Amino acid sequence: MYCPYCGHHDSKVIDSRNINESIRRRRQCLSCGSRFTTHERLQSASLFIIKKDKRREGFSRDKLLTGIRKACEKRPLPTGAVDKLVDDLEAELYQLGKVEIPSETVGDMVMEGLKNLDHIAYLRFASVYREFADISDLKQEVDTLVGSKVSAPRPIGQLPLLPNNRSGRLARSRRRRRR
Ligand SMILES: [Zn+2]
Repeated sequence: MYCPYCGHHDSKVIDSRNINESIRRRRQCLSCGSRFTTHERLQSASLFIIKKDKRREGFSRDKLLTGIRKACEKRPLPTGAVDKLVDDLEAELYQLGKVEIPSETVGDMVMEGLKNLDHIAYLRFASVYREFADISDLKQEVDTLVGSKVSAPRPIGQLPLLPNNRSGRLARSRRRRRR
């Protein structure tokens, strides 16, 4: 924070106040003694995700965490692995240095992160995110995974490949057809 009067790089904070999602600070230059005000926005308020329908939405770490948790449900992952992935992704997003990021970019980053973490979680996320049109798309994705040299923990037991809401929707549409 440079002094607007003399350009000195150091100042002290003499007053600090939270206003909505920003912090208003009264500062005093350590060189010339001039006082000036800064408004600092919190990081979470300065990053926006552009959805497929062009809607603009403030970046939410919680939302990212929820989506990834859902994909990783009941997977044998080490404690803290999901939180670490979300931390890494969040840092990576801010490091892009952009105010707006397309949701596709975020989705691709999540896919990349999950691919290295757990193949089943990756496929679950991919099936929702990429909206596999049919089983051959899914098979192609699985073949790509099997072909890659990435090692992931082997699946334990029989867990549903698709998250609950998906299989639920399929079951509902099947019921409807039977009527
Ligand atoms: Zn100054």
